[in-house]
Amino acid sequence: MTEHHTHTHNMSAPTEFVYCPRCATPMETRQVGDKPRRVCPACEYIYFTDPKVGVGVLVVSEGKVLLVRRVMNPERGKWSIPAGFVDRGENPQETAVREAQEETGLDVVIDRLLDVYYNPPEAGGASIFILYEAHIAGGTLRPGDDADRAEFFGADELPDLAFASTKDAIRRWQQTLTADKDV
Ligand SMILES: [Zn+2]
Repeated sequence: MTEHHTHTHNMSAPTEFVYCPRCATPMETRQVGDKPRRVCPACEYIYFTDPKVGVGVLVVSEGKVLLVRRVMNPERGKWSIPAGFVDRGENPQETAVREAQEETGLDVVIDRLLDVYYNPPEAGGASIFILYEAHIAGGTLRPGDDADRAEFFGADELPDLAFASTKDAIRRWQQTLTADKDV
């Protein structure tokens, strides 16, 4: 027995695909489970809109935080923590290490999970963002990939920051600095 959901939501199915990406038949909108989705009537392919997942690392060395300047939009010309998108099937910790290597030339090791953020789809970019803390294990500082500069900054010399996730990561770091002073 199949369970039928009789309640309907006022949600329209995403219309990114007009034709089936597998067999090129025009797709239809059908109720699949509790949501309307684009479905191929010929081969039964269902288009699921998976969330975009991003990952980044907060790296602090000798009291300074590692940032990269973005050469790509969004937020071109502003500075962010090393970050990137997680590919399907990829461990997010491996993505974080790889992105840090590509953007800064440094080999980092993940120490712990700091937080997981949710960004509404309207904000663009990653809808789920995973923030790790990491430390440097080797490599030589040099920018690469979609960064044209990679540098360390003290808390009182921060550049123009990109993204809410980077600003929050920096805020966390500054709070630990304040906490240390209070002891
Ligand atoms: Zn098809």
